[in-house]
Amino acid sequence: MAYLSYKRTQNIDVYDAILIGSGIGSLVTAVALSKAGKRCLILERHYAPGGYTHTFKRKQYEWDVGVHYIGEVMRPQSMLARLFRYINDGSLEWADMGEVYDRVRFGDEIFDFVKGRQAWTEQLKQYFPDHKDMVAIDQYVALVQSAAREAKGFFAEKALPKLASQVAGGMMRRGFMKFAGKTTLEVLQSITDNPKLIAVLTGQYGDYGLPPSQSSFAMHASVVRHYFNGGAYPVGGSARIYESIAPVIEAAGGMILVNAEVKRIITQKGKAVGVLMADGRELNAPLVISGAGIATTAQHLLSVDDRSASGLEKSLQKVEHSASHLCLYLGFKGRVDELNLPKANWWYYPAEFDHDSLVKRFNQDTNAEFPVIYVSFPAAKDPSWHERFPYQSTVEVITVASFEQFKPWLDTKWHKRGTDYEALKAQISERMLGKLYELEPQLKGHLDHCELSTPLSTRHFCNYERGEIYGLQHDPQRFSVKSLRPSTGIKGLYLTGQDVATAGVGGAMIGGILCASVILKRNLINEVISS
Ligand SMILES: Cc1cc2nc3c(=O)[nH]c(=O)nc-3n(C[C@H](O)[C@H](O)[C@H](O)COP(=O)(O)OP(=O)(O)OC[C@H]3O[C@@H](n4cnc5c(N)ncnc54)[C@H](O)[C@@H]3O)c2cc1C
Repeated sequence: MAYLSYKRTQNIDVYDAILIGSGIGSLVTAVALSKAGKRCLILERHYAPGGYTHTFKRKQYEWDVGVHYIGEVMRPQSMLARLFRYINDGSLEWADMGEVYDRVRFGDEIFDFVKGRQAWTEQLKQYFPDHKDMVAIDQYVALVQSAAREAKGFFAEKALPKLASQVAGGMMRRGFMKFAGKTTLEVLQSITDNPKLIAVLTGQYGDYGLPPSQSSFAMHASVVRHYFNGGAYPVGGSARIYESIAPVIEAAGGMILVNAEVKRIITQKGKAVGVLMADGRELNAPLVISGAGIATTAQHLLSVDDRSASGLEKSLQKVEHSASHLCLYLGFKGRVDELNLPKANWWYYPAEFDHDSLVKRFNQDTNAEFPVIYVSFPAAKDPSWHERFPYQSTVEVITVASFEQFKPWLDTKWHKRGTDYEALKAQISERMLGKLYELEPQLKGHLDHCELSTPLSTRHFCNYERGEIYGLQHDPQRFSVKSLRPSTGIKGLYLTGQDVATAGVGGAMIGGILCASVILKRNLINEVISS
């Protein structure tokens, strides 16, 4: 059994560590602790484990929620491939998405992002054959590579003890901060004055949720480089990520419980000693690790005094929540080949080469054109799909949302938010569906299931207060906040997941391994790299 329901579990032992949330960050930390002989108890409030890596089903359809493609896992020597092998003993298979992983489209103009840095560069130069643009493309790739090279020191610093960080931290952070402290737009405008080239180069900005004038260039570079060698998808769907990891934790005596909502982290004399569950039960452990996100941990799981003692209150004054999103989950009757579904994702923009203006306009008026439409085809990416779902295919369409638009229904319950909310959802769904049909007109007439998630759905299921897509926002300011790290001002309380490092499955995994490194006082990153 890969997990149990908290509500049906009477006897819960005392464990070495309690982890709040079962996202990939918590899972990585739990595996590393398990390998060091510690028994872990993972408490997940959702009915499904895995955090954003979980899948859900309606009728005969299945969708992933927060995993559409992952880079670097097809290269066995990459850090991420090694990290996956470390946590699941190599029991997860990946399917390559092929030569083109992203298709960026502005109006009718299409730009393919092809696998391989060299091939990618050459392809981009074909789209931009002007000499000045070609030089800028080379400079851009060099900058992306340099930012990525500096990342190791920056993140490794987060695992240093206080004294070592005071001595060596500045030096380890400096190189990366040269890139992280600037916006993507600033860096790109330093190499080109061609707005169309800038818009195309930032065509994947949805992967980190901020348009060029707001995002940190380091985050942009990290995502771009992550996919340079193509995209991959877990064979069997993204739930396989959790399924492949859980046995490692269980084999070491750990337990994973779903429907297990933590209400409060309990501290005694400045030390975390356990958690108070939503049903009033207390569970104790000498280590408490939160993978629920720093904002949720500080604002909902700590008392006012502990929030201030943890240092998290101060951090949160400096960093914003990331944007929220809408996702249209679609089920079509027909096989992938019948429906002619591609593996590559679509990034579809209006025929304007200015992401910032498009986002601004949408935030001022949600009836304005969607600033971006992202489309993913899990049925086409997963080679095992047809064994599992012989006659159906699924598609996901995502765009940005204005949280403010959904505020009137904040106090209503999921599926009982009223007819005006349903009417708004129907109207948005229709608009998003129209965009999909512009991209893939052959799908018309095959739709069988359509369901829209709003920021309130994300808040309900994943406990992000503003339904945010990527935890804390990835602007230059975020990277200057040193306290976004695994250790807190409270003894025995640690943080894991995307807010410790960066968003993305890979980023949250780095957060997870850094957290375990701090707890075990070992450089696990080096151990994983040399494994
Ligand atoms: C729409 C979308 C698309 C994405 N696409 C990609 C992609 O294609 N590739 C990629 O690499 N990344 C993608 N990401 C990002 C990636 O999924 C996340 O960055 C990563 O999974 C976050 O992992 P985490 O462990 O930090 O947190 P989460 O996965 O958010 O896990 C946190 C867990 O904590 C639980 N929790 C919260 N409060 C409590 C509580 N009080 N008690 C108990 N449990 C609690 C939550 O229910 C949740 O399960 C996407 C994300 C989204 C939302």
